[in-house]
Amino acid sequence: MVKFGPSGCCDRFLSDHKSVEDIPEWLEAQGLDSFEYAFNKGIFLSDEKASQYREIFEKHGIELTVHGPYFINFANPDDMMAEKSYGYIIKSLQKMRLMGAKKLVFHPGSLTKQTREKAFEVTMDRLKTLVGILDEYGFDDMFICPETMGKHGQIGTVEEVAQMCALDPRIMPTLDFGHINSFTGGTLKTKDDYIEVFKTLEKYIGDRYKNVHIHFSKIMYGPKGELKHLTFEEDNEYGPDFEPLAEALKELGVNATVICESRGSQTDDAIQMKQIFETKI
Ligand SMILES: [Zn+2]
Repeated sequence: MVKFGPSGCCDRFLSDHKSVEDIPEWLEAQGLDSFEYAFNKGIFLSDEKASQYREIFEKHGIELTVHGPYFINFANPDDMMAEKSYGYIIKSLQKMRLMGAKKLVFHPGSLTKQTREKAFEVTMDRLKTLVGILDEYGFDDMFICPETMGKHGQIGTVEEVAQMCALDPRIMPTLDFGHINSFTGGTLKTKDDYIEVFKTLEKYIGDRYKNVHIHFSKIMYGPKGELKHLTFEEDNEYGPDFEPLAEALKELGVNATVICESRGSQTDDAIQMKQIFETKI
């Protein structure tokens, strides 16, 4: 099954609504089935609110996913900083349990002054430790989802994310196709280009490539990768296009939640993708 929804509140929602509690009913009325909640700048949600969200989102059949704090950086060689990153993951998962959310997206890390090889090695070591911590806390029913990243200074190519996911079945890929396209300077054009991404996953995680989390938006890029998120309406140059991805998802039988991160128009663009997926392909 493929589900669609926005990341955060779009402009159209905010023009006449204020609270998160209104989101599920509103999204259901738009024909969408998921929503990504952001802990980007920290986890400030009370336990009471988190439980309340669970009830309302379940009532309207909207899957709730979470984007973890931007402070997470598993490539950091400083052990104290690594402890903080573990803490952000655990705190997010604890809150998500109350929210009824199962997938936690996170940015794996930044190179800072290290070589890519060294930064990736540090990231993998940290994730191995994290898997042990997940066992300790008994997080067996949830997924942590490292994201493919758009800038050359970040860890998170498709191959790197695939290797992270091979560490444990609770690590599920977040394929951000706008990021992949930006990182590689615009290589996602045809259905086969998208299938290639899934084949890279398959090499490392076998059949698990059929269950992924997806971020989709059009992104402007330069020589060092990602520059800026665009709306579907704004972009006629950078891409990527959703049609060939929809074809690839159908052909391979991939189950995914597709979250749209267009700035401001994320709900309308998610609706457009859902329509393409259901009617055009
Ligand atoms: Zn992200």
